[in-house]
Amino acid sequence: MAKKSSAKKSAKPAAKKSNAKSAQYVYTWGAGKADGNGGMKALLGGKGANLAEMTRIGLPVPPGFTITTEVCTYFYAHKKTYPKELQAQMAAGVANMEKIMGTKFGATDGTPLLVAVRSGARDSMPGMMDTILNLGLNDSTVVALVKATKNERFAWDCYRRFIQMYGDVVLGVQKKEGEDHEPFETVIEGFKHEKYHQDIEDSKLTAADQQELVKRFKALVLERTGHVFPHDPWDQLRGAAGAVFGSWMNDRAIVYRRKYNIPTEWGTAVNVQAMVFGNTGDTSGSGVAFTRNPANGTNEFYGEFLINAQGEDVVAGVRTPEPVLKLKDQMPKSYAELLKVRATLEKHFKDVQDIEFTIQEGKLFMLQTRNGKRTAAAALKFSIDMVKEKLIDWKTAITRNPADQLEQLLAPIFDLAEVRKAKVIATGLPAGPGAATGKIYFNADRAVTAAEKGEKVLLVRVETSPEDLRGMIAAEGILTARGGVSSHAALVARQMGKVCVCGAAALQVDYDKKTVTVSGATYGEGDFLSIDGTAGTVYAGQIKTAPSEIIAGLIHGDKAAQATEKFKSYVQLMKWCAQATKLQVRTNADTPEQTAQAIAFGAVGIGLTRTEHMFFEGDRIDAMREMILADNLGAREAALAKLLPYQRDDFYGIFKALKGFPATIRFLDPPLHEFLPNSTDQQAALAKKLGIDVKKIEHRVHELHEFNPMLGFRGCRLGIKYPEITAMQARAVLEAAADATKAGFKARPEIMIPLVGFKRELDLQVALVHEVAAKVQAEKKVKISYSVGTMIEIPRGALTADEIAHTAEFFSFGTNDLTQTCLGMSRDDSGSFLGAYQESEIMKKNPFASIDQTGVGQLMQIAIEKGRKTRPDIKLGICGEHGGDPDSVKFCHKLGLSYVSCSPYRVPVARLAAAQAAIADLKK
Ligand code: PEP
Ligand code: MG
Repeated sequence: MAKKSSAKKSAKPAAKKSNAKSAQYVYTWGAGKADGNGGMKALLGGKGANLAEMTRIGLPVPPGFTITTEVCTYFYAHKKTYPKELQAQMAAGVANMEKIMGTKFGATDGTPLLVAVRSGARDSMPGMMDTILNLGLNDSTVVALVKATKNERFAWDCYRRFIQMYGDVVLGVQKKEGEDHEPFETVIEGFKHEKYHQDIEDSKLTAADQQELVKRFKALVLERTGHVFPHDPWDQLRGAAGAVFGSWMNDRAIVYRRKYNIPTEWGTAVNVQAMVFGNTGDTSGSGVAFTRNPANGTNEFYGEFLINAQGEDVVAGVRTPEPVLKLKDQMPKSYAELLKVRATLEKHFKDVQDIEFTIQEGKLFMLQTRNGKRTAAAALKFSIDMVKEKLIDWKTAITRNPADQLEQLLAPIFDLAEVRKAKVIATGLPAGPGAATGKIYFNADRAVTAAEKGEKVLLVRVETSPEDLRGMIAAEGILTARGGVSSHAALVARQMGKVCVCGAAALQVDYDKKTVTVSGATYGEGDFLSIDGTAGTVYAGQIKTAPSEIIAGLIHGDKAAQATEKFKSYVQLMKWCAQATKLQVRTNADTPEQTAQAIAFGAVGIGLTRTEHMFFEGDRIDAMREMILADNLGAREAALAKLLPYQRDDFYGIFKALKGFPATIRFLDPPLHEFLPNSTDQQAALAKKLGIDVKKIEHRVHELHEFNPMLGFRGCRLGIKYPEITAMQARAVLEAAADATKAGFKARPEIMIPLVGFKRELDLQVALVHEVAAKVQAEKKVKISYSVGTMIEIPRGALTADEIAHTAEFFSFGTNDLTQTCLGMSRDDSGSFLGAYQESEIMKKNPFASIDQTGVGQLMQIAIEKGRKTRPDIKLGICGEHGGDPDSVKFCHKLGLSYVSCSPYRVPVARLAAAQAAIADLKK
């Protein structure tokens, strides 16, 4: 009893309390006022927040409201239901629109209010439900609209479009497996041929035609769904909002989120906005534009529009739009207004904007603004130009270049001599810069399968839609026959950094025959084509690619490349990075060439030389094998003596290329069986070469066989059992350093012992190195400045770092091994299940590509704390593959490492990420 009454007591005040400050789920905007603002992207989504912001700064925005992302979270937490306050708040939102517009939702008399419903996550996400226009129309309101506008064709065109969009995205009337065309489009095409015996433009359809299509569309909906198309505008609105929330969890949205690491918890908002119409006649139109060119960065108004059309027509790629600059002649007043808006937006948002607008009978309305997606080349140019224009400072400029996109700038272009010989078969719009060559596929799934087999693939489509996302990810490049620079293909390609040519109208794609016919030739699936996404050219066959201007300028010293704006901008960006950064960037390099490249990219030393890579070339492998096959110390030392000069020469070359920068040289690490031949043929050939019995080789291979070689006889364990290997390697390094010093350039070797888990392992190896060093210095009569340290790459090493730091002068985190040993997942074959793990969101990213910060990261943290306790100034670095991953670099900055080390071509990426991490610190 007592329990019951207390429950009752507490229930009442709680209910009161929730009434008192009932949550706000709907944020309205319109007529210069807005509940929200541009800073509220987490709650209102990107689109909703910016619509509110544009309203606040006085731009012409049709009124509307945003249903918050919290409702999306609620929807999934409560079995797809809504908070009870929502309906009333939406009704208030609709009333606000009605007041401002002077119209009424569902009106059968007077002008009915029609609305657009759009999804709006924090970042825009292709793959989610996009837009439903003209919602609110039914058989009665369409008659009212005809009466109010005296424009019968327009009203029925709106209704026809509404059923098509709503049927597709809300009711799921979409193409079935095996169909290459949308069912509504098939109905339209059938009708056109039936009545006009040809494929006329949509704009030529009469009011009666649209009315007939409405009838046929409704019949199609009934046939495909078993339900009558909803009549009540409120049912339509609730259905559309539900579809937006539902689309947050559709496959395409999940694929997209996974690729871009967008957390599922963010959810999406829904935007409901009063319709303005671009399809009322020739004084109306719709367009999309970027305030600057997002493909190459030029400061020019860049976009496209269609007269007498609704927004979807422009992006759907069904009609090819006109460049926005042509508006200047066709609607000079609206164009001038648009230019003013362009300037206002850039000044206000201080970044390049991607806008959507509609002109209704000569009046301009803004429907969206957001920071424009851009290629790496455009991002670079925007950032440099905006500093010059004093819109942003140099630190902001660094943050405007996404580190994971920077590699695009280093991507190859076509070899000029080859491209001159190649046959141009078509031209289209340059939508994603770069050069790509590959076998053509016409379907996303087949493209994925081919790419999985290792083929280089070009995805060729009439136009792309979000279903093609997987194929686009797998392809080297994307080629479409229809669509403009803001079509789906172009937007997605640009964001992914894929090469893309779109709207190559000469291509006749036949999905059934799996062919494309162009310039009198027909190409089938598996044939090669090449595309230049910077120029918009399509070539027959394969074309060799050449390095980008940045590579040509930096690595090959090409003067013409160095004179290009792109090269100079890159150099400027890297100068700023050097100014901002705390974390140094070294490289993983095993040869003088690699070292020189990395230095050209701005590396300040080597973080890892894997010495075993030096044993494979030419005759050296023979001496190595001789050493492994030797059955006594004398024979082993004789073989090692043959290896010594090779190693010494390699180190000398590396020291020279380093120009005084330090080099961390890691002693032999892999298990010995990796150096011996596997096949009987190869074993017989080796026996002959070395003049020994093949049985001996077979026996040794058998003896060295391990079940878990990655956890076996490798790393310092080799040097413990065969100290003479360590001694030879130490001698090679130190003699090279002595020779370098004598030759007048500085060598700073840092000898690194791998796979240490016990202090004593390191003690034994270090003692040996010092012993050899003393001898070499005496023999060569020079003082060599060297240090000895270790890799932290197995958990015991991390946990006992305080002990190990007594001997180690530096630590370098070998996060490849540390990941596999911490996670208990092999770095070689965990690929078989890692995909499923990421899909199930057990791990967000591949832990071998991006550091598992909570697990492996914790081991690193422990090692750093313990290491510093013993040796406060211990030098700390990382040399696993993670050293070139922007998120991992930022994590290493946070941990306070002195450097990251990565492959030469990732050095610029790491430098940019390191500078961004330092700038983010300043902002805290
Ligand atoms: C590591 O384990 O992270 C490392 C750099 O060494 P390796 O990849 O050669 O094992
Ligand atoms: Mg390792």
